[in-house]
Amino acid sequence: MKMRTVQVYLEDSYIKELDAEVIAVGEGVFLDRTIFYATSGGQPCDVGSMVGKGTYTVKEVMKEEDIVHKTEPLPSVGERVRLRIDWERRYKLMRQHTAIHVVSSIAMREFGAMITGNQIYEEYSRIDFNFKDWNNDISRSLESRVNTELGKNQEVTVSTMKREEILKMEGALKVDLRLLPSTEVLRVVKIGDVDIQPDGGTHVKNTSEIGEIEIFKIENKGKNNKRVYFRAHK
Ligand SMILES: [Zn+2]
Repeated sequence: MKMRTVQVYLEDSYIKELDAEVIAVGEGVFLDRTIFYATSGGQPCDVGSMVGKGTYTVKEVMKEEDIVHKTEPLPSVGERVRLRIDWERRYKLMRQHTAIHVVSSIAMREFGAMITGNQIYEEYSRIDFNFKDWNNDISRSLESRVNTELGKNQEVTVSTMKREEILKMEGALKVDLRLLPSTEVLRVVKIGDVDIQPDGGTHVKNTSEIGEIEIFKIENKGKNNKRVYFRAHK
């Protein structure tokens, strides 16, 4: 089945309220368009509310064949609703998401650390690296290089590129291509001259919105893997 819901946040991640129409109700609510980000790519979903004839609390949003909004109670089909996301939470997740790209990119470029996984939270993020001998010096050096780049007020831009162009682009494939949508044209997020990669997440417009990052914990995850935790603060 083709996705019916227009994911407005892919075009503009700063829209906090939007009118939409309920097109189906089943295991959750399906809308003609949405600003609710559905959990994917390490970024947790948005929560918030839909206001129509009643007020419906949005507790969880999933991406299946379509975007499924779990609400309480459920609205009716055809109902027009005003969507409101919990912006404070979303904005924190956006700052973390852009930061995680910068950290990953620099860790890969400077230390050859391959990324094997990541998870974003409101207050911090973690990245798993395939890197055997991580130490405090590497943490401090990574932190300072990342903060230098963030401090350059680099613009974050979203565009689309053909899959074949992305394959040719050096450094863009930090993620397994099989994990990306199977479409010919992919959404690409570029952060100044630090990072470019295909991505479906929500990002800030400028690295100045992130502030500085601080690596606060390193965990061993098996023989060759390190789990690196950082937070971002202004
Ligand atoms: Zn991402």
